[in-house]
Amino acid sequence: MTGSLVVAALTLTLLVSCSVAIDGTRARQGTGTCCATLRYTVDPAFGPSEIGAVEDGIASWAIGTNGTACTIRDDVHYDVAILRASSRIEISGDDPTDWPIHVGFYNGREGHIWIVSPDLTSDGLADCASHEIGHAWGLSHGDPKSIMFWQLRPLIRQEGAAPRVTPEDADVFNQRWCR
Ligand SMILES: [Zn+2]
Repeated sequence: MTGSLVVAALTLTLLVSCSVAIDGTRARQGTGTCCATLRYTVDPAFGPSEIGAVEDGIASWAIGTNGTACTIRDDVHYDVAILRASSRIEISGDDPTDWPIHVGFYNGREGHIWIVSPDLTSDGLADCASHEIGHAWGLSHGDPKSIMFWQLRPLIRQEGAAPRVTPEDADVFNQRWCR
């Protein structure tokens, strides 16, 4: 994918707006067939358990869409870099206005997904990675049952709903990429 643009973010308690545009691989329709592929790399600054959570969140796209959203870890040729911030101020370079309220941030211009992992539980870290990848797909914020809800999702966690990417998210993804 190329041409990603704009910024988006996930916050613990406050909202953010986002709009993203992406040109991507448009392939076949159909369940189980990739409609778009996103290549990512993961910052080695994440610890092993953090990387596990990040990978879990990213994998939820393939699971939740039944394979129409494809992600590939590629540390050489990648669309987005998942970067670890040890505090929110570290993301202020990419997010100069709202960094104090963000625990995750997607900067499409730079291809950066920032995650302030010390401020997140393991589930929150996975959800945050999944949410920001959603922005990298070009998706905007969705309703409270969506991984694309603008807050981390205490409601869905409490309901025990899995996978992180919901049918609603899959529908939005498929509408964008599988037609
Ligand atoms: Zn967001």
